[in-house]
Amino acid sequence: PLFVVTIDGPAGVGKTTLARAVAEKLGVAYLDTGAMYRSVAWMLGKGSWEWSEEKLDRGLDKLAFSIQGAGEATILLVNGHETGSKIRTETVGLWASHVAKIPQVRRRLTEIQRSLGQSVSLVAEGRDMGTVVFPKALFKFFLDASPEVRARRRWLQLRDAGSTEDLEGLTRQMRIRDEQDRNRAIAPLRPAEDAVCIDTGMLDPAQVLEQIIRRIAS
Ligand code: C5P
Repeated sequence: PLFVVTIDGPAGVGKTTLARAVAEKLGVAYLDTGAMYRSVAWMLGKGSWEWSEEKLDRGLDKLAFSIQGAGEATILLVNGHETGSKIRTETVGLWASHVAKIPQVRRRLTEIQRSLGQSVSLVAEGRDMGTVVFPKALFKFFLDASPEVRARRRWLQLRDAGSTEDLEGLTRQMRIRDEQDRNRAIAPLRPAEDAVCIDTGMLDPAQVLEQIIRRIAS
């Protein structure tokens, strides 16, 4: 791959905000791999939850991902359309977490992510960027914070976007999702051995950004 920075961590820790900011500083594109799993979940969720391998393959064949632009202006396109706010809800996040346990789905998305990393320099964020998809990335970061802090951040973010999800329900769903992501058989959520771990609980995004950029510059 070309130049890749990986940012992994649990839900609501601020990965997307940071990946965008780091990409902007470096003048490269960012890749929101959660949006890819959410897009697959959306596609499957609209049909039936009973999928066969063939049906899954056919569905995955119909999804084409590409990225355009760089920095904060990067856009992820699914079949030529920007992934909208409909995939951003915690409900779709939970679907995505179910779908992300299917080996066939992980295999396919990993391939696509690697091929995107062959064509452009990237800040890639998700759960397994440093451990599985880009094990040779030059810089790896793992962000963490307590479940309460993360649920609150996600709630504020969704509220600002006009959503009415309640904090309690959101916290519950996020816990289920985290547990599922940490305990699954393939690509469980964990820091890569050579990742720099940052506890973001007491830090604002600007401070986390500064730590990341300082590491990359040194
Ligand atoms: O990051 P985001 O909350 O959008 O991710 C949604 C879900 O997609 C996660 O809970 C996780 O199960 C899955 N995911 C994954 N691997 C990634 C990115 C996301 O398994 N690299």
